[in-house]
Amino acid sequence: MSHLRAAAAGGLRRSGGRAARPAGQSRKGASPRGAPAPAPPPAQHLFSDPSEIEALRGNLLAWYDKSKRDLPWRTLAATEPDANRRAYAVWVSEIMLQQTQVATVIDYYNRWMQKWPTLQALAQASLEEVNELWAGLGYYSRGKRLQEAARKVVTELGGQMPRTAEELQKLLPGVGRYTAGAIASISYGQATGVVDGNVIRVLCRLRCIGADSSSPAVIDRLWDMANALVDKSRPGDFNQALMELGATVCMPKAPLCGECPVKQHCRARRRKLFGKPAPVPDVEDCGFGNCPLCPPATEPWDSSLGVTNFPRKAVKKQPRVARTATCVLERRGCHGALEYLIVQRPSSGLLAGLWEFPSLLLAQGLQEEKQREVLADHLQTRMGWPVAAGDLQFIGEVIHVFSHIHQTYVVYSLPLDGDVTLDPALSPSRWVTEEEFHASAVSTAMKKV
Ligand code: SF4
Repeated sequence: MSHLRAAAAGGLRRSGGRAARPAGQSRKGASPRGAPAPAPPPAQHLFSDPSEIEALRGNLLAWYDKSKRDLPWRTLAATEPDANRRAYAVWVSEIMLQQTQVATVIDYYNRWMQKWPTLQALAQASLEEVNELWAGLGYYSRGKRLQEAARKVVTELGGQMPRTAEELQKLLPGVGRYTAGAIASISYGQATGVVDGNVIRVLCRLRCIGADSSSPAVIDRLWDMANALVDKSRPGDFNQALMELGATVCMPKAPLCGECPVKQHCRARRRKLFGKPAPVPDVEDCGFGNCPLCPPATEPWDSSLGVTNFPRKAVKKQPRVARTATCVLERRGCHGALEYLIVQRPSSGLLAGLWEFPSLLLAQGLQEEKQREVLADHLQTRMGWPVAAGDLQFIGEVIHVFSHIHQTYVVYSLPLDGDVTLDPALSPSRWVTEEEFHASAVSTAMKKV
């Protein structure tokens, strides 16, 4: 199989619009001078009837008004009178929701907004504080970039958030096309569409788009469609409604088509109910395998999958396999409580600036005895004390899957008597109680360890 079925977004939210091209590089804009304009896609993949677009907007918005989830960022977007604060509140939510489920984000969002209710407050925070609050949310560079961008707004833009999607994307680091569109439509009422994982799924099903949904050609088409569909008087609500539909009704594996407010506009559902169209080219059938938006000829419609034939996505690269030896150094603190030594990671790269138990990336294929030896050497170099490999007690292995790394931590422990610190020239380190450990900027992987 060269394609996966309908796995896009899988209950998660945004991709931050990373699949999209930057403004000014749309497919049309990228055509060489004088090249013929690309042929319009077959009618089955378009919304070409204005009355159908009107009906779809009305049905979707009526459903959203009745069924939308009560979420803290929606409340702020609806009640905050100051445009900068409103845009900031939406921006924080959109960054947190990239790759993270709504249920997980709510608590982080509330704590964040309580601690830094304005751009100015965030601009004054330290990266350490940001990492501490972000700990456990994953994709840590998001928090760092959010704070950098807040500083930029305060120091370079006079505290004023850019007022259009184009300017937001151009001026704010970490703000892609999706995030810019979401902030502008929800905070300022700019009539601009958005395309995230949920929108991709819904639109691909509504219009039977089965070509690779991560390909630039399909993504461009979906942006065109989102911009054409967005309701001009309620763009923020419309965009949120489309995403809400993808998150709660048009779900990846088990869509609730019977409850769907736009089912009468859905061509995937029609195809499921009424079967394969007649084998003659008409508006319901793109013909004989040449359509750039249909499923590839090698993977035609599979009736057992129904609407989940759409969307399709190229197979993701398998995550890289890595093994890391980790040592939990522990001692009795002056008040008798157990304390653990943690060290700070470098300020760039994976988990930048976060704290962890002293760790060492292992070469491939090392035997257990050798692993222990290299870890002992590593600790000895950093502590300036002799560490015998035999004193390291093997505790077990912990697996943590990052987006692109399948990481196994081989965990050892070493009780100590003396007051050990690591060479500060190599990395900052400190002793913490278990409670302090959990309040520190540590990753979920280290909490598992
Ligand atoms: Fe999705 Fe089903 Fe609604 Fe079509 S009818 S948009 S497949 S939930």
